[in-house]
Amino acid sequence: MIDRILNPTLLLISFSLIGFHLACKQAQESATLSGNNAELQEQKEVIMSEKDEKTEEQWRHLLTPEQFHVTRRKGTERAFTGEYHDFKGKGVYKCICCGSELFSSETKYDSGTGWPSFWQPISADKISTETDNSFFMTRTEVLCSKCDAHLGHVFEDGPPPTGLRYCINSVALNFSEKRE
Ligand code: FE
Repeated sequence: MIDRILNPTLLLISFSLIGFHLACKQAQESATLSGNNAELQEQKEVIMSEKDEKTEEQWRHLLTPEQFHVTRRKGTERAFTGEYHDFKGKGVYKCICCGSELFSSETKYDSGTGWPSFWQPISADKISTETDNSFFMTRTEVLCSKCDAHLGHVFEDGPPPTGLRYCINSVALNFSEKRE
């Protein structure tokens, strides 16, 4: 008799406990998941806030027509016409669009091409590169990683220690004597 009463009761209690345990576990997992999502969202926001994204009209408003043409339209200034191709000041060259520090005068050299040339950026994360197949050639385009401004191209005929030649438009740069 007792067995008949106990067994269904015990079964009921057991099922309730299992159910409760599963519900707790699920709640815990979803809390962890939403925690991870919040963390990911936060990381994404940090990356986005580091990017300088403006509309075409905003850039047009901020830049001279030549600066806009070169940096936002992937243009090229005529050789030997830019402000910095023969410039020897000591300091830092910043992006004309967003002010990010891109190249140091310590890595500038005279390539004889008529464009300011550097054998290395200030740090690898300051620039990004893309394959450029325009004008029936394959070149490597150099862009500002912060605002995606077109800066110039990089070639593999530079001096030691890197053997690279970052051939950059003067108009995409803004020289600053002191590093802020
Ligand atoms: Fe920039």
